[in-house]
Amino acid sequence: MTDKAVPVIEGLFSDTAEGPRLLGSRCAACGTPYFPSSAVCHNPECSDSRIEEAFFGPGGTLWSCALQNYPPPPPARYDEPYEPYLLGMVDMDEGLRVMARINAADITAVEIGSRVELELDTLCKGGEGEDVITWKFKVVQP
Ligand SMILES: [Zn+2]
Repeated sequence: MTDKAVPVIEGLFSDTAEGPRLLGSRCAACGTPYFPSSAVCHNPECSDSRIEEAFFGPGGTLWSCALQNYPPPPPARYDEPYEPYLLGMVDMDEGLRVMARINAADITAVEIGSRVELELDTLCKGGEGEDVITWKFKVVQP
């Protein structure tokens, strides 16, 4: 990453003193987590929607993944020439299932059930040469 970096979308993640975290919310009444943040609780069994800000991460388990072998349609962003990447669904330890790119030394060798950890990483270059940052997960234990 360069000195000049911008988040792909404001307000979805933060590099906290404890490390990267996703910014979402949780219902204080029933505990249901939301990412992105929700203004109300969508749990049909919860009648007391009390939403609080919540930070999620860093740990999770890879629930599923697919190799993105061709460029996705807009508004997806990537640098040219296109490089295939691994797109995963991660069960975060806080009870969320989140979609994100998966970083691994060999993306063709990643296995379902691997332990992963949240990280902030460059998605692509922006229009003025700045790094556009997003959340990803890196495989920490196959
Ligand atoms: Zn609730």
